[in-house]
Amino acid sequence: MPLFAYRCNDCAHEFETLSRFDETPACPSCGGAHVERQLSLIARPAAGGESGETCAAMTGGAPCPSCPALAGQM
Ligand SMILES: [Zn+2]
Repeated sequence: MPLFAYRCNDCAHEFETLSRFDETPACPSCGGAHVERQLSLIARPAAGGESGETCAAMTGGAPCPSCPALAGQM
């Protein structure tokens, strides 16, 4: 299953979880169901913010097949 980032509209809690594409998880913080799926590219810190998340595609190089940045751009 793919990893999606969500933001809760009730308590503004942001989280990531493995989820089916057509499935909306409950907020782990308040248990509310008013969560919105975020683009993983936006939810993640900028390139270099996390070790291992930086990809050549972010700097104009050849994209790697599993680059998380591609999901939000293509
Ligand atoms: Zn919440």
